[in-house]
Amino acid sequence: METQTDTPAPSFGALRRKLAGKLFEHGSPGYDELATPWNTAVATSPAAVVEAAGAQDVTEAVGFAAANGMPVAVQATGHGVASSMDGALLVHTRSLDSCTIDADARTATTGAGVTWKTVLGSCHDHGLIGLCGSAPGVSVAGYTSGGGVGPMARTFGAASDRVRSLDVVTGDGVLHHATATTEPELFWGLRGGKGSLGIITSMEFELLALPHIYAGALFFDAADIPAVLRTWAQWCPTLPPEATTSVAVMHLPPMPGVPEPLAGKFTVSVRYVYTGNPDDGATWLAPMRSAGVPLMDMVGPMPSSMIGLVHSDPEDALPASEGSMLLADFTAGAADALLDAAGPDSGSRQLTVEIRQFGGALAEEPEVPSALCHRQAGYGLYTVGVAAPPELPAMAAESAALQQHMSAWAYDGTLPNFSAGSGAGGFAASYTAPVLDRLTALARHFDPDNVFRLGQVPTR
Ligand SMILES: Cc1cc2nc3c(=O)[nH]c(=O)nc-3n(C[C@H](O)[C@H](O)[C@H](O)COP(=O)(O)OP(=O)(O)OC[C@H]3O[C@@H](n4cnc5c(N)ncnc54)[C@H](O)[C@@H]3O)c2cc1C
Repeated sequence: METQTDTPAPSFGALRRKLAGKLFEHGSPGYDELATPWNTAVATSPAAVVEAAGAQDVTEAVGFAAANGMPVAVQATGHGVASSMDGALLVHTRSLDSCTIDADARTATTGAGVTWKTVLGSCHDHGLIGLCGSAPGVSVAGYTSGGGVGPMARTFGAASDRVRSLDVVTGDGVLHHATATTEPELFWGLRGGKGSLGIITSMEFELLALPHIYAGALFFDAADIPAVLRTWAQWCPTLPPEATTSVAVMHLPPMPGVPEPLAGKFTVSVRYVYTGNPDDGATWLAPMRSAGVPLMDMVGPMPSSMIGLVHSDPEDALPASEGSMLLADFTAGAADALLDAAGPDSGSRQLTVEIRQFGGALAEEPEVPSALCHRQAGYGLYTVGVAAPPELPAMAAESAALQQHMSAWAYDGTLPNFSAGSGAGGFAASYTAPVLDRLTALARHFDPDNVFRLGQVPTR
């Protein structure tokens, strides 16, 4: 995404004096720790970082940026950083870390810096769970602002469907409490609009009573990849909405944390979460268990708070090149095409190439409509390449070629949470034309100075 330095960095003294939290100017001690994202491949250089201690700090930061012609960016963990933030004022939310569980009401109220890991841990003793994504290290606010399509999406829909209220500072510096009945238009846009309208400071969302899941991953050796991909393609359309699954062709390096049977070679993993009776979960999974000879079978009953084990996404910061596309279908032909482009004989250097099945509850419009689009896509394809920064452009080119190879099965559009690496075009593709128009009108209304121009609706 294009970034710009609007004006020379202003003097931050006046802002610093108004803050309860801290302000770090470019180059000062503490700046790098906050400004460096989880994806270290994206070099970021905001003019200053405000470590907000509360909603009032966010209001002060937005007002200061507007008065000085600066764009505002927001970061919780840096898992979805999309621009270099040159010349921007970055609001870092890590200190907005309150997490309150109301077990009777089955709700959580979380500050903007809270990650799913914290929510899952807090829910564990209550037998509750929130609709997290595959990586618990991602922030609840960042994830949910982009819809949030996770490993239980086919049973329960998107995370944004379960939001009750959002406290948000809009571009005009005003703090709003948006619900389905108070400020319904803002409430619509914040669930899927992905940082275009304001900075969420706190949110309340529903939890589900689900102490256990039948879940985990099967891993197969390279020789089984063709059969596993084809079996998975035929198996997915038979599944009930209690089952959410993905398949990933992996090429993991030999390094600490990578199990020996998977290290240094091509393997394939079938990820599976079944939210109903565990015996039924095992019955539904049987065709995949017999699609080859599993190197490791890690699927079984587990506390729902352990759901992060299903994908076992990397936790530590790393330099990554990510690519994504939506698919209308994943047929046997698509499985063969994926094998050509990402299998052991392809020369692929991607760490993982994953296909997630959608459908089920995700395909249904929620009771309270939101800006999340493309719910009808059948599948999502994601590539992750990890390499030293000079090699990442080649990784990205390889992912683009792979996506082109899969274009016969493409669904027109992307999901906002997976478009961070695709620039302004990818952002726009996250929405249908009417939704983009409606979000743009909302952004004009709530952000008259266009301080969130680095966000998901950048052009107006
Ligand atoms: C390993 C990995 C696994 C993932 N798995 C999934 C998955 O299963 N499902 C899924 O849907 N997504 C998934 N994602 C994508 C992830 O949800 C997005 O990258 C998300 O934006 C990360 O949010 P963050 O706040 O942690 O990251 P950050 O980089 O800190 O923020 C990214 C963006 O989120 C928005 N944002 C963050 N905080 C706020 C706020 N307080 N107010 C308004 N907007 C805000 C902004 O647009 C910001 O630029 C995954 C990403 C990774 C790297």
